[in-house]
Amino acid sequence: MKEATLRKVLSEGSIESHAHKSYMNETKSNVWTCINMDIAQRSKPSDRDSAARLRQAGLRPTRQRVALADLLFAKGDRHLTAEELHEEAGCIGCSCSLATVYNTLHQFTEAGLLRVLSLETAKTYFDTNVSDHHHFLVEGRNEVVDIPVGDISVNNLPEAPEGMEITYVDVVIRVRPKS
Ligand SMILES: [Zn+2]
Repeated sequence: MKEATLRKVLSEGSIESHAHKSYMNETKSNVWTCINMDIAQRSKPSDRDSAARLRQAGLRPTRQRVALADLLFAKGDRHLTAEELHEEAGCIGCSCSLATVYNTLHQFTEAGLLRVLSLETAKTYFDTNVSDHHHFLVEGRNEVVDIPVGDISVNNLPEAPEGMEITYVDVVIRVRPKS
């Protein structure tokens, strides 16, 4: 189960009364996020790995960039929003603002370390897997699941407009739990 989903299930599953819903939701969500972070911290790559990754991408490895890169790339392939990364950063004592996180995510994207997902959701999702692949989007849950590129074949593509060539086909399949 994806960590974000686990967090959601855990927080929503523990709500005892409607009156306390938002408070309980917020509190438990933060607690679980920080527990998850403790687990992640034990297996994170060294700061040197992140610094090298940033330098290789042409970015100066500032303290904040290294801290955010550690969070982003320590847990395998991930899809996350600026808000989620900001919350995780707070848990490890990185006091960067949401605006800084957002700017850093866009700098990482421009440097080729991340890809922006075009999911038509209210929030922008960033993907740490920049190789070609597609996605399932679980409606109502803000959950994104990778589909390997070889698992889909796209036929009968139209000709690209005059003077253009197709660079990449990005398939998003929307799913929902069976009722
Ligand atoms: Zn992906």
